[in-house]
Amino acid sequence: MTLAQPRTCGTCTLCCKVYHIPELDKRMGSWCKFCVPGKGCGNYEARPNTCRTFNCLWIITDILGPEWKPERSKLVMAIDPETNFLKIQVDPGAPRAWRAEPYYSQIRHWAVAGDPTGRRVIVFVNDRATVVLPDGEHDIGVIAQGERIQINRPTSPNGRFSVVKS
Ligand code: SF4
Ligand code: SF4
Repeated sequence: MTLAQPRTCGTCTLCCKVYHIPELDKRMGSWCKFCVPGKGCGNYEARPNTCRTFNCLWIITDILGPEWKPERSKLVMAIDPETNFLKIQVDPGAPRAWRAEPYYSQIRHWAVAGDPTGRRVIVFVNDRATVVLPDGEHDIGVIAQGERIQINRPTSPNGRFSVVKS
């Protein structure tokens, strides 16, 4: 994918807050000790591989407008390479940010549009997950390390999806 205008992080550093960085033993939802919020990484040359290889969806695609920039939306989005799910990691300092507009309507739209191909939308606030499906939201609580999410289609015309952790 080629961007008409290459994007840069600029003053955004939100991925340095929301994610677990195993090499640094950094917990989700707390600022990395090397991060200078609003400026960038204070350990750039020696940053771990998890940081080197990460790019959020906003930075790699121009289908998301400026309102989706993570520092503004409070949402860091990425496609899980294993499951192909769209994972939205919300700034725990603004846990309801994904319910604000224009984000919420678009998230609901993606949940419906992704259904035929099985691309699911999962919203995380730290490790607590809400799966957004065509029939609505399924709050499935905390996802432990290594736990998987299994989504089953409704078995009757008026049934709901079922979501289980395994
Ligand atoms: S969340 Fe995206 S835009 Fe923000 S610092 Fe990380 S990669 Fe850059
Ligand atoms: S090492 Fe740098 S890039 Fe990685 S989380 Fe910390 S501040 Fe961000």
